[in-house]
Order: sequence, then C-alpha cells, then structure tokens
Amino acid sequence: MTSLSPQPAQPASARPLYHRVLLKVSGEVLMGEQPFGIDLATLDAVAADIAEVTTKGVEVCLVIGGGNIFRGLSMAGKGMERASADYMGMLATVMNALALQSALEKIGVNTRVQSAIPMDAVCEPYIRRRALRHLEKGRVVIFAAGVGAPFFTTDTGAALRAAEMGCEALFKGTSVDGVYSADPKTHPDAERYDRLSYLDVLARDLRVMDASSISLMRDNAIPIVVFSIRERGAFLNVLTGAGVHTVIGPDSLP
Ligand code: UDP
Repeated sequence: MTSLSPQPAQPASARPLYHRVLLKVSGEVLMGEQPFGIDLATLDAVAADIAEVTTKGVEVCLVIGGGNIFRGLSMAGKGMERASADYMGMLATVMNALALQSALEKIGVNTRVQSAIPMDAVCEPYIRRRALRHLEKGRVVIFAAGVGAPFFTTDTGAALRAAEMGCEALFKGTSVDGVYSADPKTHPDAERYDRLSYLDVLARDLRVMDASSISLMRDNAIPIVVFSIRERGAFLNVLTGAGVHTVIGPDSLP
C-alpha cells in the first residue's frame, strides 16, 4: 500500500487497458448539488463521459444505485418492513437506469436496460446471454434492480454482473477520487491509497463497497478501480491507467 500523488493525464492517444468493463455509479452522484433526486446537468455529464469511453471501442456495462431516491435500510430503520423497503430501493434504481438511458440515447449511444425484476412494459428482463449479445453489438447495457432480492445492494449487483459478463474490471465511480483511510470530507488528514488488496479492504473495513461484493471480486480476480466520477473525463483517463484512482486487486499485483 502506498499513498499516491496525483498522476499526470495521459496523452489523448493513450489506449484503454480493458476491453469490457462495468461502471457502478452510486445514486448519490446523480444528485449533483441537490439534496435529492436527479440533477439533469450531472446526468448529462456522466452520460457524456460514458459515451467518450464507448468511442474507444470499450464495451460498457452500467449499474446505477438508488440512494438519491430511496434507500431501503434507512426506511427500515424508521420502522418499515426491511424487505418492502428494499424492493422500493430496487425500483428507485430502475428510475435512475431509465434516466441514464435517456441521457445516453440523446447523445447517440445505443443502450438497453435489463432489470433483475421483470418489468416488461418498461425494459428487458435480465437475460445473461442477451446482455452479452448487446455488448458485442456495441450497446451499453444498464443493469437495473440490483440482484433483484432484498438485503442486497447495487454494489453486490455490480459485482455479480461484472463476473457474469466477463468484465475485466469493475469501475466504481464515486464522489471522492479513491479509497482513503477515513472519510476525507470529515478527516482532511486521511491517507489516500494507490493500491490495496481485497483482503486489506476487508480486514480494515474500508467500506468502499460492501464485503460481499469485495469477496465476489476477489473470488473472480476482477480488479476494482475507485475514482471520482464528478471529475469530467476521469472515466476514460482512469481506463488508460492515468488520473487519480485506487486499484483494489490481489496481494500479488505489482
Ligand atoms: N436494493 C436491494 N437489493 C439489491 C439492490 C438494491 O434491496 O440487489 C435496495 C436497497 O434497499 C438499497 C437500495 O435498493 O438501499 C438502493 O441501492 P443502493 O443503496 O445500493 O444505492 P447506492 O448507494 O449505490 O446509491
């Protein structure tokens, strides 16, 4: 583990390190500066960054959270039955998926939304082989409703779909530029890591993703790349190995 000084941006010709990736964007990112819901300018900016990556020939899977609209755990904490609250959270992720689909299609990116909870009038049901076909045809596939079951999160959904789709890396776009020893918003002296092992993250309870998703990525040796999606152009930059980010991988990685 080493702390990292900002890396220089790569030249425009730099090539992406991966051919197929999954990008997980938490719902909170879509709020922008708003306290709730979807900020259209932020949505368009995230869509533009995804579009930029597709022009480089990278196949992109997307998983969007729902925390900007509804979070099951917090409603359960106020007395609602947990499973019902979680289903509402999953529906929130479908709303975000449709919003991102619309933003992407507006700028010419072909997309399909597949939901883990079948919703025929709204989007396709999740069918693994069909999703693979979409990717091969250059479409961005947005996976909605997490894993389709309560007591899980969209992080777990992202890890599961990344493994099922044969993604070479899981990119986690957050509002901070990597994994820190403590929340940098409340601890300005927190250390940022350049590289961590899956076991470091689990043992030190670094809370970048939930433990089940970290374990799933560890079992399948899929690296997790944590970066700030709030910075324009960062997705492509980090895909080429440049920009500020944290890579979580096996202990043996250089
Ligand atoms: N959720 C769930 N099962 C899943 C995915 C999501 O029950 O497989 C629910 C859960 O209530 C969660 C909410 O959907 O709080 C929104 O997802 P998440 O909290 O992962 O969104 P994010 O924090 O990434 O915005």
